[in-house]
Amino acid sequence: MAFSVPPLPYAFDALEPYIDAQTMEIHHDKHHAAYVNNANAALAGTEWADTSVEKLLTSLDKLPADKQAPVRNNAGGHYNHSLFWTVLGPGKGGEPSGALGDAIAARFGSFGNFQTQFKAAAVGRFGSGWAWLVNDGDELAIVSTPNQETPISDGKTPLVGIDVWEHAYYLKYQNRRPDYVDAWWNVVDWDAVAGRFAAA
Ligand code: MN
Repeated sequence: MAFSVPPLPYAFDALEPYIDAQTMEIHHDKHHAAYVNNANAALAGTEWADTSVEKLLTSLDKLPADKQAPVRNNAGGHYNHSLFWTVLGPGKGGEPSGALGDAIAARFGSFGNFQTQFKAAAVGRFGSGWAWLVNDGDELAIVSTPNQETPISDGKTPLVGIDVWEHAYYLKYQNRRPDYVDAWWNVVDWDAVAGRFAAA
């Protein structure tokens, strides 16, 4: 079963003014679609064609040598973006409560300290990539990955991630990645993140 782009669970303009509609449309309909199409092309006709994206990304070293890079980049892009859309939403933001809020406070001292460290990871990622809050076995951690590499390939469970490829913010924020990160907090769906934390 070939991969397909999941529908965006809200309108392109739903995250305005923090993420603009044109960016969302191009990001979802063009960039995410390209990862899906390229992953499908790489896997077509191979014994891996029906393998789940999670299994592929945790089995990269078992793939044929000439498939490892295309799968890392494109199945990785499909996985990362599929997650990204679901941890954002209109009218969200604020702070996590409950078990996730407690775990963040315990690990980072406070939600504000967490935001400071997460922003540093997002802004400090050189070139294209992601910053993540992950469940790293027994505890929460902040990591960043280059390009479309994903924490699940390192045995970590991503709870929320920010795409810091220029395609995610350049139309509205140009070179001002820190401003994009600041705005992004306003659209994080902490209930969705808490659901991922509870399932991890
Ligand atoms: Mn992207």
